[in-house]
Amino acid sequence: MFGSLRIGRPFGIDLSLHGTFWLLPAFVFLTAYMGGGLPAAVMNTGVILAVFGCVALHELGHALAARLYGIRTQDIVLYPIGGVARLERMPERPIQEIVVALAGPAVNVVIALGLLAVLLADGLALGIWPSYQNPVNTFLARLMMANVGLVLFNLIPAFPMDGGRVLRAVVSWFTDRVTATRVAVTIGTVFAVLFGVYALMPPNPQPMLLILAVAVYLMGRQELEMVRREAVYRRRQRMWAEYDIPTARAVDRPGRPEDVWVYDARTGVWHPAPTRRNLFSPI
Ligand SMILES: [Zn+2]
Repeated sequence: MFGSLRIGRPFGIDLSLHGTFWLLPAFVFLTAYMGGGLPAAVMNTGVILAVFGCVALHELGHALAARLYGIRTQDIVLYPIGGVARLERMPERPIQEIVVALAGPAVNVVIALGLLAVLLADGLALGIWPSYQNPVNTFLARLMMANVGLVLFNLIPAFPMDGGRVLRAVVSWFTDRVTATRVAVTIGTVFAVLFGVYALMPPNPQPMLLILAVAVYLMGRQELEMVRREAVYRRRQRMWAEYDIPTARAVDRPGRPEDVWVYDARTGVWHPAPTRRNLFSPI
């Protein structure tokens, strides 16, 4: 029912719309139509679709930065609350994680500056700025502000949002990766609670923000679990190496907490299950 629709394959990366994606433009169209008629509905829906185009470019920014470090991106999916780039892993060197995390917002900075240049050029030509009488300029001005919003919001240090990844990378300069992730996830959870409380405040409850709060909470915990599992796996590998134990016979089945493992019958070795990283960029 909620399957994804593939709409393209930029740079060899599948770009899809989640089945629930259309709920947002449909909602925006209907509310604008009831408030301001067809012109407002067309304008607002056009803006929201263009914003999602910018979100897709933001995700491509993450994906192409990851590619610099030899990390592939399985796909990019757009949801009503934002985009997710599913990377096969995250770079572990802090500086590389910072580059990958900031590449997304950097794309929106470039788009916003480009739109500002167009608006300024047009405003200078007309002697006024912004010339809101012109619907094209209204559209471009709103798209520019949306991109500024994307940059600011995604830089909130709410792991696993981009700002939270930068925070995790900075903390991991001073401590191990599991502790750094735990610190970032704890701060992310505080933000998730704040988002949730704000979303429920009368008189204007915001269901999208509530969904975002839940997503930040769940995705943060999921990634913390993956980082822990990888640490256990590495400890075990070091132990195997130290005692010269052939890995194939060292364990017939790892127990908890590393129970999400896969067995490679060809080599006879247990591996952690693939640990894809979701770079989540809400709108
Ligand atoms: Zn992002």
